Amino acid sequence: MRHFVVVGSGPAGFYTAEALGKAYGEAARIDILDRYPVPYGLIRFGVAPDHQSLKAVSKRYDKVAESAGVDFIGNVCIGRDVSAGELLELYDAVILAIGAPHDRKLGIPGEDLPGVIGSAAFVGWYNGHPDFADLGPPLGGTHAAVIGNGNVALDVARILSKTAHEFEGSDIVGHALEALDNSAIKTITILGRRGPHQIAMTPKELGELGHLDATSPVVEAKDFPPLEADDALEPGQRKSVTILREFAARAPDPAKPKHMVFDFFAKPLSIDGDGKVERIVVERTELDETGAARGTGERYEVPASLVVSCIGYSTPPVEGVAYDERGGKFLNDSGKITDRLYAVGWARRGPTGTIGTNRPDGYEVADRIASEMPPGSSGDRGGAKGLKLLLESRGVMPTDYDDWRKIEETEVGRARPGSPREKFVRHEEWLETLGR
Ligand code: NAP
Repeated sequence: MRHFVVVGSGPAGFYTAEALGKAYGEAARIDILDRYPVPYGLIRFGVAPDHQSLKAVSKRYDKVAESAGVDFIGNVCIGRDVSAGELLELYDAVILAIGAPHDRKLGIPGEDLPGVIGSAAFVGWYNGHPDFADLGPPLGGTHAAVIGNGNVALDVARILSKTAHEFEGSDIVGHALEALDNSAIKTITILGRRGPHQIAMTPKELGELGHLDATSPVVEAKDFPPLEADDALEPGQRKSVTILREFAARAPDPAKPKHMVFDFFAKPLSIDGDGKVERIVVERTELDETGAARGTGERYEVPASLVVSCIGYSTPPVEGVAYDERGGKFLNDSGKITDRLYAVGWARRGPTGTIGTNRPDGYEVADRIASEMPPGSSGDRGGAKGLKLLLESRGVMPTDYDDWRKIEETEVGRARPGSPREKFVRHEEWLETLGR
C-alpha cells in the first residue's frame, strides 16, 4: 500500500488525485488536504461567479472525492498546522497543489495607497473568500482602472460593469452584489502596457463585452496595426483581435451609461492621491524590436478612485521547499521538486493556462510518481493515521468530505432566488455550520 498526500484541493490537486487513483487503484490511499473546510480552490474562489458553466467541472472532482481510497481533509494548512518535512515523514509522496493565491506587485510608487487592490483580493471579495470578506473596495467614485490585459482583467472589468439583473444565476456573494449595485462607477479603464495584438484575453470572454446591459466597450481604431497583420496571429488570438476591431468600429451605445475603455500602449508609472488613490500616471508606450513595451516619454493621467491590478499571481513559499523567486513558484523539474516531493498546477508552472491545462499537468506528475514507485510496490509510511494523531496533538480539528456536503447543503438552502447558493464568507461560519 502507498500513501499519497495532495496539498490543495483546486483543479490541479483534484486532477492529480484522479490520476493517482487510476494508476494505483486499491494499492494507494490518497488524501487531499485543504486549508479550508470547503474544496475546489480556484473553482470556488477564482472563477467568475457569472461563469457558472466553468464551475460545473467541480462535479467531476466530487466523483474523485467520493471514490474509494480518496479522502478530503479540510481545515489543515501546510506551514501552519503541519510542515512539508512532516508530511514527507508520513506519506510516500507529497504533491503540492497550492496554486498561486498571492498578487504580483506592480513595483511602482503609490501601489500601497488605499483603493489600490490586487486581483486576488478583489476576486476573492466577490467570490466569498474569507480573507477578503472585509475588503470594502471603494465604489463611490465614477472612475475605476484595471491594470493588465489578461482574462482576469476582463473578469474584473466585467464584474464592475454588470447590473444586478445580469448577476441572476450567478453565485456572487450577497455583500458584493449589494455593493456593486450601489456603485457609482461609470468608466472602467483597462490599461494594457502593450497593444491589441499582445492581449492575453480569450475570444469568448471578450465577446461577452458586446452584450452587457449597461456598458459599452470603447476601443480606438488607431491602436491597431494594418488589418493584414492579423494574418500572422494564431487563430484564437486573431479571433480576439477581430472582436476588438468590431468594438472599435462601433460607436458607444448612447442607451448604456457605462463605458469600458481599452487604453492600449499605456504603462502605469505611479499611482497618486491624497491619502487614497485618485489617479494613475501613465506613460504612452510603443513596441520595441523584441515586442516589449518601450516608453515614449509622453505622460498623462487616468482618473480612478479604485485601481485593481490584474498582472498575475505567485505561489507562497513553504518552509523547506525549494522556491523560484523570479517565477513565483516552486523550483521543480517537470513537477519534481526533490525526492518524493512534487508540485502541480500553478505551483509548478506559474499562473498560466486554463482549468483544463491542469489535467495533463496532474496526470504527467502522477505518471512520474507511478514510474518511481510502481503500483504494487509498498512503502512503510502510515499516511492519514499518523497525520490525524499529529494534528490532534496540536489541537487542529480537520474536517472531511461529509462536513463539506453539510456546508454546501446549507449554502444551497440559503440561496437568494435564481442563485445556486449563498456562500458563507467567513471561516467561523463554516465551522459553526458544522457545530464546531
Ligand atoms: P495573464 O494572462 O498572464 O495576464 C497578465 C497581464 O498583466 C498581461 O496583459 C501582462 O502584460 C500584464 N502585466 C504584467 N505585469 C505588468 C505590469 N507590471 N504592468 C502592467 N501590466 C502588466 O494573467 P491573468 O489575467 O492573471 O490570468 C492568469 C491565467 O488564468 C491565464 O492563463 C488566464 O487565461 C487564466 N484565466 C482564464 C479565465 C477564463 O478562461 N475565463 C479567466 C481568468 C483567468 P504583458 O503581456 O505585457 O506582460
